[in-house]
Amino acid sequence: MSDEATDPISVKHYKCENCGADLTYAPGTANLKCDYCGTEMVITDDSAGGRVEETDFLNYLSENNIDDEQKTVIHTVKCNSCGALTTLAVHVTSGDCAFCSTPLVVENSQTCTVIKPRYLLPFKIIQKDALSAYKQWIKKLWFAPNKIKKYGSTADKLSGVYIPYWTYDAQTGTDYRGERGTNHTETYTVTVNGKRETRTRTVVHWRPVSGYVEKFFDDVLVLASTSLPNKYTEKLEPWDLENLVQFNEQYLSGFRSECYQINLRNGFETAKSVMDNAIRVLVRQNIGGDHQRIHSLLTSHSDIKFKHILLPIWISAYRFNNNVYRFMINGRTGEVQGERPWSWVKITLASLSAVALAGIIYYYWRMYS
Ligand SMILES: [Zn+2]
Ligand SMILES: [Zn+2]
Repeated sequence: MSDEATDPISVKHYKCENCGADLTYAPGTANLKCDYCGTEMVITDDSAGGRVEETDFLNYLSENNIDDEQKTVIHTVKCNSCGALTTLAVHVTSGDCAFCSTPLVVENSQTCTVIKPRYLLPFKIIQKDALSAYKQWIKKLWFAPNKIKKYGSTADKLSGVYIPYWTYDAQTGTDYRGERGTNHTETYTVTVNGKRETRTRTVVHWRPVSGYVEKFFDDVLVLASTSLPNKYTEKLEPWDLENLVQFNEQYLSGFRSECYQINLRNGFETAKSVMDNAIRVLVRQNIGGDHQRIHSLLTSHSDIKFKHILLPIWISAYRFNNNVYRFMINGRTGEVQGERPWSWVKITLASLSAVALAGIIYYYWRMYS
Protein backbone atom coordinates (compact mmCIF):
# COMPACT_ATOMS: atom_id res chain seq x y z
CA MET A 1 0.00 0.00 0.00
CA SER A 2 2.86 2.34 0.73
CA ASP A 3 5.86 3.00 -1.43
CA GLU A 4 7.45 5.70 0.66
CA ALA A 5 10.89 4.35 -0.07
CA THR A 6 10.77 5.41 -3.69
CA ASP A 7 9.29 8.79 -2.90
CA PRO A 8 10.71 9.78 0.44
CA ILE A 9 9.33 13.26 0.77
CA SER A 10 5.67 12.65 0.20
CA VAL A 11 3.04 11.18 2.45
CA LYS A 12 1.88 7.59 2.24
CA HIS A 13 0.23 6.50 -0.99
CA TYR A 14 -3.19 4.92 -1.25
CA LYS A 15 -3.91 3.10 -4.47
CA CYS A 16 -7.14 2.94 -6.41
CA GLU A 17 -8.56 -0.60 -6.34
CA ASN A 18 -9.87 -0.13 -9.84
CA CYS A 19 -6.98 1.42 -11.79
CA GLY A 20 -4.02 1.59 -9.44
CA ALA A 21 -3.66 5.38 -9.58
CA ASP A 22 -3.13 7.38 -6.40
CA LEU A 23 -6.15 8.25 -4.32
CA THR A 24 -6.38 11.69 -2.76
CA TYR A 25 -8.60 12.99 0.01
CA ALA A 26 -11.79 14.56 -1.33
CA PRO A 27 -12.46 17.72 0.73
CA GLY A 28 -15.79 17.86 2.52
CA THR A 29 -16.21 14.08 2.46
CA ALA A 30 -14.97 11.07 4.40
CA ASN A 31 -13.58 9.55 1.21
CA LEU A 32 -10.45 9.14 -0.78
CA LYS A 33 -11.08 9.61 -4.47
CA CYS A 34 -9.28 8.51 -7.63
CA ASP A 35 -8.60 11.50 -9.88
CA TYR A 36 -8.52 9.23 -12.94
CA CYS A 37 -11.47 6.88 -12.75
CA GLY A 38 -13.49 8.49 -9.96
CA THR A 39 -13.53 5.43 -7.71
CA GLU A 40 -14.04 6.35 -4.08
CA MET A 41 -12.85 4.63 -0.94
CA VAL A 42 -14.19 5.35 2.53
CA ILE A 43 -11.54 6.47 5.00
CA THR A 44 -11.06 3.80 7.62
CA ASP A 45 -10.73 4.24 11.39
CA ASP A 46 -12.60 7.46 11.24
CA SER A 47 -13.52 8.21 14.81
CA ALA A 48 -15.33 11.46 14.13
CA GLY A 49 -17.62 12.31 16.98
CA GLY A 50 -15.61 10.20 19.40
CA ARG A 51 -14.28 11.60 22.64
CA VAL A 52 -11.30 13.87 22.10
CA GLU A 53 -8.48 12.88 24.40
CA GLU A 54 -5.75 15.11 25.67
CA THR A 55 -2.32 14.29 27.00
CA ASP A 56 -0.90 15.45 30.31
CA PHE A 57 1.68 18.12 29.63
CA LEU A 58 4.05 17.67 32.58
CA ASN A 59 4.14 13.88 32.32
CA TYR A 60 4.91 14.25 28.72
CA LEU A 61 7.82 16.60 29.25
CA SER A 62 9.26 14.56 32.11
CA GLU A 63 8.96 11.21 30.38
CA ASN A 64 12.24 11.92 28.76
CA ASN A 65 10.50 13.34 25.80
CA ILE A 66 7.68 11.13 24.79
CA ASP A 67 7.19 7.40 24.35
CA ASP A 68 7.60 5.90 20.90
CA GLU A 69 3.91 5.35 20.40
CA GLN A 70 3.32 9.09 20.40
CA LYS A 71 6.19 9.83 18.07
CA THR A 72 6.39 9.55 14.36
CA VAL A 73 9.12 9.89 11.77
CA ILE A 74 8.24 12.10 8.87
CA HIS A 75 9.99 12.91 5.65
CA THR A 76 10.05 16.58 4.89
CA VAL A 77 11.76 18.95 2.56
CA LYS A 78 13.24 22.12 3.96
CA CYS A 79 12.82 25.41 2.16
CA ASN A 80 16.19 27.12 1.69
CA SER A 81 14.60 30.50 1.76
CA CYS A 82 12.11 30.54 4.66
CA GLY A 83 13.06 27.36 6.50
CA ALA A 84 9.59 25.78 6.40
CA LEU A 85 9.58 22.00 6.74
CA THR A 86 6.83 20.52 4.61
CA THR A 87 5.84 17.30 2.98
CA LEU A 88 4.85 17.31 -0.66
CA ALA A 89 1.66 15.83 -2.01
CA VAL A 90 1.62 12.31 -3.43
CA HIS A 91 3.80 11.89 -6.53
CA VAL A 92 4.91 15.50 -6.45
CA THR A 93 8.65 15.47 -6.75
CA SER A 94 9.20 19.16 -7.24
CA GLY A 95 7.39 22.33 -6.46
CA ASP A 96 7.52 25.73 -4.89
CA CYS A 97 7.45 26.37 -1.18
CA ALA A 98 3.82 27.02 -0.21
CA PHE A 99 4.89 29.78 2.15
CA CYS A 100 7.33 31.82 0.09
CA SER A 101 7.08 30.41 -3.47
CA THR A 102 10.80 29.57 -3.66
CA PRO A 103 11.46 26.39 -5.67
CA LEU A 104 12.07 23.51 -3.29
CA VAL A 105 15.22 21.46 -3.69
CA VAL A 106 14.10 17.92 -3.17
CA GLU A 107 17.66 16.89 -2.28
CA ASN A 108 17.12 18.87 0.91
CA SER A 109 14.71 16.25 2.14
CA GLN A 110 15.23 15.10 5.69
CA THR A 111 13.56 12.92 8.25
CA CYS A 112 12.57 14.19 11.65
CA THR A 113 11.04 12.61 14.68
CA VAL A 114 8.13 14.59 15.94
CA ILE A 115 5.15 14.29 18.25
CA LYS A 116 2.42 12.66 16.23
CA PRO A 117 -0.61 14.83 15.54
CA ARG A 118 -3.56 13.29 17.35
CA TYR A 119 -6.38 15.07 15.61
CA LEU A 120 -7.07 17.13 12.55
CA LEU A 121 -9.80 19.00 10.79
CA PRO A 122 -10.05 17.67 7.22
CA PHE A 123 -10.30 20.11 4.31
CA LYS A 124 -13.90 21.01 3.58
CA ILE A 125 -13.44 23.78 1.00
CA ILE A 126 -12.45 22.27 -2.35
CA GLN A 127 -9.63 23.79 -4.39
CA LYS A 128 -11.99 25.15 -7.04
CA ASP A 129 -13.89 27.17 -4.45
CA ALA A 130 -10.70 28.27 -2.75
CA LEU A 131 -9.43 29.48 -6.10
CA SER A 132 -12.54 31.47 -6.87
CA ALA A 133 -12.37 33.06 -3.40
CA TYR A 134 -8.78 33.97 -4.23
CA LYS A 135 -9.79 35.50 -7.56
CA GLN A 136 -12.59 37.47 -5.91
CA TRP A 137 -10.16 38.80 -3.36
CA ILE A 138 -7.65 39.82 -6.01
CA LYS A 139 -10.33 41.48 -8.10
CA LYS A 140 -11.28 43.68 -5.18
CA LEU A 141 -7.73 44.88 -4.64
CA TRP A 142 -7.61 48.48 -5.70
CA PHE A 143 -4.21 49.83 -6.51
CA ALA A 144 -2.64 46.37 -6.76
CA PRO A 145 -0.02 45.83 -9.46
CA ASN A 146 -1.42 44.17 -12.60
CA LYS A 147 1.09 41.37 -12.28
CA ILE A 148 -0.63 40.20 -9.09
CA LYS A 149 -4.02 40.25 -10.73
CA LYS A 150 -2.76 37.96 -13.48
CA TYR A 151 -1.12 35.67 -10.95
CA GLY A 152 -4.44 34.74 -9.44
CA SER A 153 -5.53 32.73 -12.46
CA THR A 154 -3.09 29.89 -11.90
CA ALA A 155 -4.51 27.03 -9.89
CA ASP A 156 -1.19 25.42 -9.13
CA LYS A 157 -0.21 28.41 -7.06
CA LEU A 158 -2.76 27.49 -4.43
CA SER A 159 -1.63 24.71 -2.09
CA GLY A 160 -3.68 22.95 0.52
CA VAL A 161 -1.48 22.65 3.59
CA TYR A 162 -2.22 21.10 6.97
CA ILE A 163 -0.74 23.55 9.46
CA PRO A 164 0.45 22.37 12.90
CA TYR A 165 -1.14 23.76 16.07
CA TRP A 166 -1.05 22.99 19.77
CA THR A 167 -4.00 23.33 22.07
CA TYR A 168 -3.59 23.63 25.84
CA ASP A 169 -5.98 23.26 28.74
CA ALA A 170 -5.06 24.46 32.21
CA GLN A 171 -6.54 25.24 35.58
CA THR A 172 -5.10 28.51 36.86
CA GLY A 173 -5.03 30.20 40.23
CA THR A 174 -3.72 33.76 40.51
CA ASP A 175 -2.68 35.82 43.54
CA TYR A 176 -2.75 39.47 42.71
CA ARG A 177 -1.88 42.79 44.30
CA GLY A 178 -3.09 46.11 43.03
CA GLU A 179 -5.20 49.17 43.77
CA ARG A 180 -8.84 50.03 43.51
CA GLY A 181 -9.65 53.57 42.41
CA THR A 182 -12.92 55.24 43.41
CA ASN A 183 -14.18 58.48 41.93
CA HIS A 184 -14.94 61.27 44.41
CA THR A 185 -16.48 64.62 43.69
CA GLU A 186 -14.70 67.48 45.41
CA THR A 187 -15.83 71.05 45.59
CA TYR A 188 -13.37 73.86 45.62
CA THR A 189 -13.49 77.59 45.23
CA VAL A 190 -11.69 79.86 42.86
CA THR A 191 -11.62 83.62 42.56
CA VAL A 192 -12.55 84.93 39.12
CA ASN A 193 -12.45 88.68 38.55
CA GLY A 194 -12.55 89.26 42.28
CA LYS A 195 -15.58 86.96 42.74
CA ARG A 196 -15.46 83.63 44.56
CA GLU A 197 -16.93 80.74 42.63
CA THR A 198 -17.57 77.14 43.72
CA ARG A 199 -16.59 74.42 41.31
CA THR A 200 -16.48 70.63 41.38
CA ARG A 201 -13.97 68.16 40.13
CA THR A 202 -13.57 64.38 40.16
CA VAL A 203 -10.61 62.92 41.97
CA VAL A 204 -9.69 59.26 42.22
CA HIS A 205 -8.97 57.78 45.63
CA TRP A 206 -6.73 54.73 45.45
CA ARG A 207 -6.73 51.94 47.99
CA PRO A 208 -4.39 48.94 47.98
CA VAL A 209 -6.11 45.58 47.39
CA SER A 210 -5.07 41.97 46.96
CA GLY A 211 -6.95 38.81 46.13
CA TYR A 212 -7.12 35.48 44.40
CA VAL A 213 -8.92 34.42 41.20
CA GLU A 214 -9.31 31.05 39.50
CA LYS A 215 -9.98 30.33 35.87
CA PHE A 216 -10.07 27.18 33.77
CA PHE A 217 -8.88 27.38 30.18
CA ASP A 218 -10.02 24.94 27.52
CA ASP A 219 -8.30 24.51 24.14
CA VAL A 220 -6.12 27.61 24.00
CA LEU A 221 -5.01 27.44 20.38
CA VAL A 222 -1.34 28.11 19.56
CA LEU A 223 0.11 28.19 16.06
CA ALA A 224 3.10 25.81 15.95
CA SER A 225 4.27 27.11 12.58
CA THR A 226 6.65 29.98 12.03
CA SER A 227 5.89 30.10 8.31
CA LEU A 228 2.68 32.09 8.46
CA PRO A 229 2.21 35.51 10.03
CA ASN A 230 0.30 35.26 13.30
CA LYS A 231 -1.74 38.34 12.68
CA TYR A 232 -3.39 36.69 9.67
CA THR A 233 -3.77 33.19 11.05
CA GLU A 234 -5.52 34.67 14.10
CA LYS A 235 -8.03 36.26 11.77
CA LEU A 236 -8.74 32.85 10.21
CA GLU A 237 -10.26 31.82 13.55
CA PRO A 238 -12.58 30.50 14.80
CA TRP A 239 -11.99 26.85 13.93
CA ASP A 240 -14.71 24.28 14.54
CA LEU A 241 -12.53 22.27 16.91
CA GLU A 242 -15.61 20.33 18.03
CA ASN A 243 -15.37 18.52 14.69
CA LEU A 244 -11.79 17.27 15.09
CA VAL A 245 -11.25 13.74 13.82
CA GLN A 246 -8.59 11.28 14.86
CA PHE A 247 -5.37 11.83 12.91
CA ASN A 248 -5.32 9.62 9.86
CA GLU A 249 -2.76 9.89 7.07
CA GLN A 250 -5.46 9.29 4.51
CA TYR A 251 -6.72 12.84 5.05
CA LEU A 252 -3.27 14.12 4.07
CA SER A 253 -3.32 12.33 0.74
CA GLY A 254 -3.17 14.93 -2.01
CA PHE A 255 -2.24 17.70 0.42
CA ARG A 256 0.92 19.02 1.95
CA SER A 257 1.52 19.18 5.64
CA GLU A 258 3.91 21.23 7.67
CA CYS A 259 6.05 20.05 10.52
CA TYR A 260 5.83 22.08 13.74
CA GLN A 261 8.68 24.51 14.39
CA ILE A 262 7.47 25.76 17.75
CA ASN A 263 7.85 22.89 20.19
CA LEU A 264 5.48 21.76 22.91
CA ARG A 265 7.27 23.70 25.67
CA ASN A 266 7.58 26.99 23.77
CA GLY A 267 4.01 26.66 22.55
CA PHE A 268 2.92 26.59 26.19
CA GLU A 269 4.72 29.90 26.83
CA THR A 270 2.54 31.47 24.13
CA ALA A 271 -0.54 29.83 25.62
CA LYS A 272 0.39 31.28 29.02
CA SER A 273 0.47 34.80 27.65
CA VAL A 274 -2.94 34.26 26.03
CA MET A 275 -4.22 33.04 29.41
CA ASP A 276 -2.55 35.96 31.14
CA ASN A 277 -4.55 38.49 29.11
CA ALA A 278 -7.80 36.80 30.13
CA ILE A 279 -6.65 36.60 33.75
CA ARG A 280 -5.96 40.36 33.79
CA VAL A 281 -9.53 41.03 32.67
CA LEU A 282 -10.78 38.79 35.47
CA VAL A 283 -8.54 40.47 38.06
CA ARG A 284 -9.84 43.91 37.07
CA GLN A 285 -13.41 42.69 37.56
CA ASN A 286 -12.40 41.26 40.91
CA ILE A 287 -10.77 44.52 42.04
CA GLY A 288 -13.92 46.44 41.13
CA GLY A 289 -14.32 50.16 41.75
CA ASP A 290 -14.09 52.79 39.01
CA HIS A 291 -10.43 52.23 38.15
CA GLN A 292 -7.98 49.42 38.68
CA ARG A 293 -4.23 49.09 38.87
CA ILE A 294 -2.49 45.73 38.76
CA HIS A 295 0.93 45.66 40.43
CA SER A 296 1.68 41.96 40.46
CA LEU A 297 0.20 38.66 39.36
CA LEU A 298 1.39 35.27 40.48
CA THR A 299 -0.29 32.51 38.48
CA SER A 300 0.04 28.80 38.98
CA HIS A 301 -0.99 26.44 36.19
CA SER A 302 -2.13 22.95 37.07
CA ASP A 303 -3.73 20.01 35.35
CA ILE A 304 -2.16 21.08 32.06
CA LYS A 305 -3.23 19.07 29.03
CA PHE A 306 -2.33 19.42 25.41
CA LYS A 307 -3.17 18.16 21.93
CA HIS A 308 -1.18 18.36 18.74
CA ILE A 309 -3.55 19.01 15.86
CA LEU A 310 -3.42 19.92 12.17
CA LEU A 311 -5.69 22.54 10.64
CA PRO A 312 -6.38 22.93 6.91
CA ILE A 313 -5.35 26.15 5.13
CA TRP A 314 -5.25 26.96 1.43
CA ILE A 315 -2.18 29.12 0.82
CA SER A 316 -0.78 31.08 -2.04
CA ALA A 317 2.53 32.88 -1.75
CA TYR A 318 3.77 35.29 -4.35
CA ARG A 319 6.93 37.28 -4.64
CA PHE A 320 6.80 40.86 -5.69
CA ASN A 321 9.71 43.32 -5.53
CA ASN A 322 11.61 40.88 -3.31
CA ASN A 323 8.84 40.70 -0.76
CA VAL A 324 6.66 37.69 -0.10
CA TYR A 325 2.93 38.23 0.09
CA ARG A 326 0.67 35.48 1.30
CA PHE A 327 -2.95 34.72 0.81
CA MET A 328 -4.75 32.26 3.10
CA ILE A 329 -8.14 30.61 3.25
CA ASN A 330 -9.53 28.74 6.22
CA GLY A 331 -10.06 25.26 4.67
CA ARG A 332 -13.20 24.79 6.79
CA THR A 333 -15.04 28.09 6.63
CA GLY A 334 -13.65 29.80 3.52
CA GLU A 335 -12.56 32.84 5.58
CA VAL A 336 -10.03 34.77 3.48
CA GLN A 337 -7.02 36.72 4.72
CA GLY A 338 -4.09 38.09 2.82
CA GLU A 339 -1.17 40.40 2.52
CA ARG A 340 -1.11 42.67 -0.47
CA PRO A 341 1.29 44.86 -2.34
CA TRP A 342 0.36 48.37 -3.49
CA SER A 343 1.09 49.75 -6.90
CA TRP A 344 2.52 53.21 -6.35
CA VAL A 345 2.20 53.90 -10.04
CA LYS A 346 -1.56 53.38 -9.87
CA ILE A 347 -1.92 55.36 -6.68
CA THR A 348 0.06 58.27 -8.13
CA LEU A 349 -1.94 58.23 -11.35
CA ALA A 350 -5.19 58.14 -9.40
CA SER A 351 -4.25 61.07 -7.21
CA LEU A 352 -2.96 63.03 -10.22
CA SER A 353 -6.24 62.50 -12.03
CA ALA A 354 -8.15 63.55 -8.92
CA VAL A 355 -6.14 66.78 -8.86
CA ALA A 356 -6.74 67.27 -12.58
CA LEU A 357 -10.47 66.68 -12.13
CA ALA A 358 -10.61 69.25 -9.34
CA GLY A 359 -8.78 71.69 -11.64
CA ILE A 360 -11.29 71.15 -14.43
CA ILE A 361 -14.26 71.63 -12.10
CA TYR A 362 -12.71 74.79 -10.74
CA TYR A 363 -12.12 76.08 -14.28
CA TYR A 364 -15.74 75.59 -15.34
CA TRP A 365 -17.04 76.98 -12.08
CA ARG A 366 -15.03 80.17 -12.68
CA MET A 367 -16.19 80.37 -16.31
CA TYR A 368 -19.89 80.01 -15.64
CA SER A 369 -20.38 81.68 -12.30
ZN1 LIG B 1 -8.91 4.75 -10.36
ZN1 LIG C 1 9.77 28.85 1.80
